[in-house]
Amino acid sequence: MPAHTAQHDGFSRLPSVDRILALPGNEPLLAEFGRTLVVQSVRGELQRLRQQSEAAVLSLPREQLETFISDRVRFLLRQGSQPALRAVFNLTGTVLHTNLGRALLPQQAVDAVMQAMSRPCNLEYDLTDGHRGDRDDLVEPLLQELTGAAAATVVNNNAAAVFLALNSLGLRKEVVVSRGELVEIGGSFRVPDIMARAGCRLREIGTTNRTHLHDFEQAIGPRTAMLLKVHTSNYAIQGFTKAVPESDLAALARRHDVPFMVDLGSGTLINLQKWGLPKEPTPEETLAQGADVVTFSGDKLLGGPQCGIIVGHADLIKKIKKNPLKRALRVDKMTFAALEAVLRLYRDPDSLSQTLPVLRLLTRPFASIQQTAQMVLPVMQAHLAEQAAVGLRPCLSQIGSGSLPVDLLPSLCVAIAPLQKGRGEGAMLKKIEQAFRDLPVPVVGRINEGAFCLDMRCLETAGVTEFIEQLGQLAI
Ligand SMILES: *Cc1c(COP(=O)(O)O)cnc(C)c1O
Repeated sequence: MPAHTAQHDGFSRLPSVDRILALPGNEPLLAEFGRTLVVQSVRGELQRLRQQSEAAVLSLPREQLETFISDRVRFLLRQGSQPALRAVFNLTGTVLHTNLGRALLPQQAVDAVMQAMSRPCNLEYDLTDGHRGDRDDLVEPLLQELTGAAAATVVNNNAAAVFLALNSLGLRKEVVVSRGELVEIGGSFRVPDIMARAGCRLREIGTTNRTHLHDFEQAIGPRTAMLLKVHTSNYAIQGFTKAVPESDLAALARRHDVPFMVDLGSGTLINLQKWGLPKEPTPEETLAQGADVVTFSGDKLLGGPQCGIIVGHADLIKKIKKNPLKRALRVDKMTFAALEAVLRLYRDPDSLSQTLPVLRLLTRPFASIQQTAQMVLPVMQAHLAEQAAVGLRPCLSQIGSGSLPVDLLPSLCVAIAPLQKGRGEGAMLKKIEQAFRDLPVPVVGRINEGAFCLDMRCLETAGVTEFIEQLGQLAI
């Protein structure tokens, strides 16, 4: 029989859309996904079979062919109904992982966001006099209290904060900044680029490793809009270095009557040394050193929602808020709800290492990490016995998001090393990594020294059961 005839016979055996829909097993599909989507999916699958003319499928006995199609449709519908944005286990060892959503919010913030989303709220409404309000007023008093600033405003992220402040205070004028601070943060935030887009002229001074007060002094002229200091969050210059203390820069700026702005990047609101963590400057200290404007992120060490916070002198903040771009960069009620709830937690700093997830993870005792690792280890060994040697390895977690780049936190990881050595070992590692990503709640780790490593720091007790239970579905 010529091929095209066989093919044609195969097509004629394909069931109709209605026939598939009428199969008793497919009734729940209609209830779950709705008729439109199911019909569309069955049509698509029938068309695919016609186009690809898979002989093996087309020659199946009628009942099996129908089951095949129904199973495929069910699979595709389930797959298509997965949200694009999903929860994952971040076991990379980087606590504030930009690609994995940075800070986890405390329950108080989650509750506040739910409330703000599902009910009308006084976002821009003054409840005392019934007049129009200003959304920044929702968090300004808390920010004043926690940073000592006279005024504050909130925008979409810290990149927006820096951009808006530069554009508001330095348009068509010069901004003096040390060459050693012309940093790139996370690929798309580069200080010189932001400055150019903000309409400011960059006046670069000093050298990569050393900048002196007289470098600043010589650069100041009639076109100077401000002095800028950028916290070199994600790298450290070591050795023969010199940077000008903030208090000296502030005094110099004051003498020349120009503002001094500091981009802190992470900007924790408290002294982290209290918990044995490395020192990171706070907005409060920076303002006390004489900075006029300070910018920092909401979702780095602060542990809140994505936003950028600008604090400083009332007249400068006022100027920034008057910029028409403020409207384009402002944040919505969900962000304000979460930010306010997080800032409130800072009023009880002694409880922060319990109440604020970021700090809880960063200060998690080694014994607790070890306990989780020992719970997880035997289960992992059982599931991976045929493919890999699974053991515990000391490792170092990172704070992440450009915070404190050189300081690492001792931790413990479950290391999965393929049994297969030499050729094929790398491919096996990739396969293991992929299998963990394919789990219902994808697990993200990192490959290190011949093993797929899962840092147990961010697997808190509440998540252990869910983590362990899904391991049965690992398909390697
Ligand atoms: C992270 C960072 C930024 C960008 O902040 P986002 O909140 O990610 O927009 C800007 N400046 C510094 C110094 C940073 O560390």
